[in-house]
Amino acid sequence: MMKSLNKKAKTIIIAAFAAVLFVSAAVAFILNYHNIYAFALKNGWFCTPVAVENADDTDLQEYSLNELLSDSRVSFDQSLMLVNTTYLLPEDFIPDVVEYKDTTVFMSRPMIDAYAQLSGAVKELTGNKLYVSSDLRTREEQEALYREDPATATIPGASEHQSGLALDVYVAYYAGDAFLKSPSGRFVNTHAHEYGFIIRYPSYGEEITGIRYEPWHIRYVGAPHAGVIYNNQLTLEEYILSFEIGEWYEIDGYLVSRQTMGGNITMPEDFTSCTISPDNTGCYIITVKK
Ligand SMILES: [Zn+2]
Repeated sequence: MMKSLNKKAKTIIIAAFAAVLFVSAAVAFILNYHNIYAFALKNGWFCTPVAVENADDTDLQEYSLNELLSDSRVSFDQSLMLVNTTYLLPEDFIPDVVEYKDTTVFMSRPMIDAYAQLSGAVKELTGNKLYVSSDLRTREEQEALYREDPATATIPGASEHQSGLALDVYVAYYAGDAFLKSPSGRFVNTHAHEYGFIIRYPSYGEEITGIRYEPWHIRYVGAPHAGVIYNNQLTLEEYILSFEIGEWYEIDGYLVSRQTMGGNITMPEDFTSCTISPDNTGCYIITVKK
């Protein structure tokens, strides 16, 4: 009797020990998920962005850059520039910006319509006007900010504000972290992707971006990229670096490819329109509307 009880107790202890071990491993994995993801990306373990299918059966044709520059279906912009402390903006980088509706707010050209729609939706749904506290910054302005407060401001060349692709937004009484306490802030954080924007420094991305959650900093990337990034909880780093160079991917009615700069560009034989952006890592990202 005593012997069998001991045996039973032993089994229970071993089972409990195994369960604790399993739960700890699972918790450790979840907590380190983005670390593991970053490591895997760096080592080329992943090549395909989440929820993006390889478009293997696309018929391709080669074009020179000059041919594409003079093709009326093709537009060039800077919407997919990856800007961080690893991929600094070149010192001679010229942002392609325009003024937003006589406001002294300057933003990257393709953002004008997208921002008008996003701020229009905020106004319509919450009654609040969306304001911009920081838009385009020159390199000199970023240098001055960095000198003043190196703990908060990033190094010159690493700020998205120098590209004109980022805006810091707020509504009356709710700026910075408090932005999320307003219905407008919550709307921007959950719907900006429908207008081509991402929350560039998301709560889940600090390990990869190196920057804590900034619910106020919106970054334009356009369609279909913003939707994929939001729906799969990716950072811009993960998204851009996960494209295998030279491959074509099918994403929500678009074909997307990341190709090395300098040579010819392969394109689908038939397409309606196309946007080409440098990604600041030495490649172009080509977004084709089928
Ligand atoms: Zn910002």
